[in-house]
Amino acid sequence: PPHLGILGGGQLAQMLSLAALPLGARVTVLEPDAQAPARLCAAHLHAPYTDRAGLEALAACDAVTLEFENVPGEALSALEGRVPVRPGRALLERSKHRAREKQALQAAGARTAPFVAIETGADLDGALGQVGGRGLLKTSELGYDGKGQARVSDEDGLRAAWQQMGRVPCVLEGLIDFEREVSLAVARGPGGRVAFGPLIENVHRDGILRTSVCLEGDPHEAQAREIAGRVTAAWDLEGLMTLEFFQLADGELLVNEVAPRVHNSGHLTQDGGGVSQFEAQVRAVLGLPLADWRPLLPCAMVNIIGVKDQEADWAGIDALAGTHLHLYHKGWRAGRKLGHVNLVAPDAATLRERLARLERLIP
Ligand code: ATP
Ligand code: MG
Ligand code: MG
Repeated sequence: PPHLGILGGGQLAQMLSLAALPLGARVTVLEPDAQAPARLCAAHLHAPYTDRAGLEALAACDAVTLEFENVPGEALSALEGRVPVRPGRALLERSKHRAREKQALQAAGARTAPFVAIETGADLDGALGQVGGRGLLKTSELGYDGKGQARVSDEDGLRAAWQQMGRVPCVLEGLIDFEREVSLAVARGPGGRVAFGPLIENVHRDGILRTSVCLEGDPHEAQAREIAGRVTAAWDLEGLMTLEFFQLADGELLVNEVAPRVHNSGHLTQDGGGVSQFEAQVRAVLGLPLADWRPLLPCAMVNIIGVKDQEADWAGIDALAGTHLHLYHKGWRAGRKLGHVNLVAPDAATLRERLARLERLIP
């Protein structure tokens, strides 16, 4: 049977493993945290990413992928040349650094928010004006779920925010007045064939994804595919990546950022009846056949995020038609993603109605 190695053992690795097993594949994860979710459904090498024995075990797999983009470059270098790493180091170096990512997106012909790379204090001069007067300062590396970001609307505020972030490399992005946010995953197998996931609509709260919805026939899917296809070719993708977009009032899509892996917004594909994003990544990485994947039914997802002194209404969730609960076996912490609920319905109107009820059951 094929043997898949995964760098990182969080909930994405948990769900990748659960998708790999029915395909006949075995999974080994390398993960420094002894309590990380994937330990329960994959062989868990509990060691730092740079651990020699751990990397030897991954090098013996048929292919290696990742669920966490901040794996040290030296770990990737130790594997490359010995085992296919999909996506590879060159793509990861772009996608994990916001300034390089935006430059590489523009070079591939994709539009992004206006931005200025902030490396030194001098870069702050006039930067806000260049991005339209209102912006978001984001650390170039390590940010997720809206962490390491500050809204700024004047020069003093910008300077103070950069100080507060420890004067690390940042990007200042123009604040986009978007109509909605959407995402799309794209995969490419070793044979070079490209396959797309569905277009998904996303709603964030306080910088964290709250709800995703996937309906048939979204009129912006073709544009998202076209952009994703261009980036795939220019970045020479192997494996799967997900693009987050801002949709402007005129319908134009700007790329917000790229995740070199399955994405929280794609979790709804687990229960929509088609191939899931997790199966798609496993197939692309192991070189198994893969066509475009999409849910067969209207579906949605609501994240379960730790909220102080509030619990989800578990019995209510179970009682609501069309729900599927997915928990990550993680300890509770405020603002932490602990699980998600997928929701399916026979038609869009029923989905909307059930989703409104589901959202009231999850704080
Ligand atoms: P994650 O990786 O978890 O998706 P992140 O920390 O990398 O999140 P972003 O995706 O950059 O953060 O931003 C989080 C959310 O903040 C976006 O989905 C969007 O709702 C809002 N946001 C980010 N950048 C902008 C912008 N330039 N203009 C308007 N809103 C923005
Ligand atoms: Mg991000
Ligand atoms: Mg994001």
